[in-house]
Amino acid sequence: MSYTQRILAEVSNKYPHQVFFLQALKEILHSLEPELTKNKIYEEHSILERLVIPERSISFRVPWVDDSGKVQVNTGYRIEFNSALGPYKGGLRFHPSVNEDIIKFLGFEQILKNSLTTLAMGGGKGGSDFDPKEKSENEVMRFCQSFMNELYRHIGERSDVPAGDIGVGAREIGYLFGQYKKLTNRFDGVLTGKGLRWGGSLVRKEATGYGSVYFAQAMLEGKGDSLEGKIACVSGSGNVAIYTIEKLYALGAKPVTASDSKGMIYDCEGIELGLLKELKEVQRVSLSEYAKMRPSAKYIPIEEYTKGRNEVWSIPCDVAFPSATQNELNGADAKVLLENGCICVSEGANMPSTLEAIDQFIQARICYGPAKASNAGGVATSGLEMSQNASMHSWSFDEVDEKLRGIMRGIYENASQTAEEFAERDNLVLGANIAGFRKVAMAMIEQGVV
Ligand code: NDP
Repeated sequence: MSYTQRILAEVSNKYPHQVFFLQALKEILHSLEPELTKNKIYEEHSILERLVIPERSISFRVPWVDDSGKVQVNTGYRIEFNSALGPYKGGLRFHPSVNEDIIKFLGFEQILKNSLTTLAMGGGKGGSDFDPKEKSENEVMRFCQSFMNELYRHIGERSDVPAGDIGVGAREIGYLFGQYKKLTNRFDGVLTGKGLRWGGSLVRKEATGYGSVYFAQAMLEGKGDSLEGKIACVSGSGNVAIYTIEKLYALGAKPVTASDSKGMIYDCEGIELGLLKELKEVQRVSLSEYAKMRPSAKYIPIEEYTKGRNEVWSIPCDVAFPSATQNELNGADAKVLLENGCICVSEGANMPSTLEAIDQFIQARICYGPAKASNAGGVATSGLEMSQNASMHSWSFDEVDEKLRGIMRGIYENASQTAEEFAERDNLVLGANIAGFRKVAMAMIEQGVV
């Protein structure tokens, strides 16, 4: 049994119910196999044994009072996974599906993603099973305040710097920051994704979506192609999806789909971005409203999806951007995408493709950007926000956008050159995992057994 197989077996025995964490671990360990076989230093230092266990894992009660005066209780989490490269860094997710398993998979991915950005950031993740949807402003504020009543003692600008994720946008970060300041009497860079008037960075809101498109552009250019004139399918209609669509238009592509948890839209004339932003960022309503206002659009509710499929991926496209949630693109979806001639998949969401889907993309040798590389633009720009906060400077939109583009190109080159060392130039899963891992592992070795 190889080193990676032994670790996977041990973790599977210990946490058989953590299916998302095990899925992420399996993908990573499989890619690390050639590096770990070639170089025994990692096993000698028990790097994997240490890497798979968070340095610290916190879970806590979050009581709050709803508008009718009733006490509600949610569970909060913060998993501080690895600090070999810098302060723990990673978002907070507020969604009913959140549990320790989901936060662990996200935190584990974050370690290698942050390493790839080349910025000084360790890996962490947090969140709660609270659902901000259909809550009043005051309820969201009270929840955020209660969440911070516990979280504040675990975070700090030099130790752990949370940001947003699903269900946590500028509004929630504002309430969280306000309470942090009240409790600590400190105005510092403890959260990223802050408002532009009080320490936020330009381009942070756009960064994950823009970054995922820059990554696709880099992959296509690697094959002498470009995004110009390409038809794009995008899933999701939140922060990542909206700014993916915006950058796709800027680079000459035509995005034709968007989706939410209730259904999807196909707009053959191209998604009307202003309308999408109004409905999703301002009114926060279902995508079915979009089809009522655009004759060129068709709305398909989730109940009408073909069984076991995500209908977004059945629309013929050249390039695909899964940007909603985990496991939203399975083996059957991948097959249809490939049959329809898709040549590039760049992941905006975290772990959106199942292991079966990934296998097919690798086999077909299309441009496939795994999340930890292709969606690293968000956390990279959070890193730039931390630099601006620390130096009390703020950079212009174009300056940050240019740095983001450079970082995404750098990640692509690092991943593809690393893959080439193993004679697998097109396999960016292998390249990204090994490149991210090497840096973290060597830092852990140099810092001793701690
Ligand atoms: P948002 O909350 O802004 O948007 C999430 C979108 O995904 C919404 O359209 C939502 O629909 C949809 N969605 C959520 N859960 C499901 C589900 N179970 N089935 C179908 N659709 C679903 O989140 P973000 O855009 O910030 O995040 C999207 C993905 O990108 C996540 O995987 C996140 O971890 C990842 N990511 C985000 C980063 C960021 O900077 N924001 C950074 C790196 C990764 P509805 O509106 O109906 O809920």
